[in-house]
Amino acid sequence: MSKGKLFVVSGASGVGKSTVLGQVMAKMPDLKFSVSATTRPPRPTEQHGVNYYFVSRDTFMDMIQRDEFVEYNDHMDNLYGTPKAQLEQKLEKANVILDIEPKGAFNVKGSRPDAVLIFIAPPSMEELERRLRSRGDTSEEQIAMRLDRARWEMEQIHRYNHVVINDQVDACADEIVKIIAQAAE
Ligand code: 5GP
Repeated sequence: MSKGKLFVVSGASGVGKSTVLGQVMAKMPDLKFSVSATTRPPRPTEQHGVNYYFVSRDTFMDMIQRDEFVEYNDHMDNLYGTPKAQLEQKLEKANVILDIEPKGAFNVKGSRPDAVLIFIAPPSMEELERRLRSRGDTSEEQIAMRLDRARWEMEQIHRYNHVVINDQVDACADEIVKIIAQAAE
């Protein structure tokens, strides 16, 4: 019997989800983050075992074979999955937050109906596009792909328990903290 509750957060690329979640984690020191496995290469600031477990495609396929994932999905040509054992261990002690895309979120909800699904939305598609462009390191093709993907994600938001708009990072993080505190009571 697990002690903790499961919170699943999704949001479009460029919405500022990592910054918001960083603040949520800082404000709720008892909350644990589920570290996913991915075949995507690490970004300069990312650490193995902290942000992700960075694994080869072969290792990821072996993990699928051994049924080691709660859910996994292909996203923009890379594989991402939630390791089962790690999640169970964390849930035994605490509330856990997953940062996963919508298809993974709905798979989790299917196997754990008590999971609370939270979607972080941009103030508008125009603002999302502006944020994606302001990064300065994303090609036009990538921006178009991410916006297409974001439009599809926005069509899914009715399937989430909560939708929070990231207009101001602090306010958005506070709203998520409130949702978690209330649901975990
Ligand atoms: P990024 O490469 O930008 O870190 O993440 C890309 C997308 O993959 C994000 O939408 C993120 O939420 C999602 N993601 C991260 N880990 C997992 C996972 O374990 N499972 C699924 N289904 N999606 C994930």
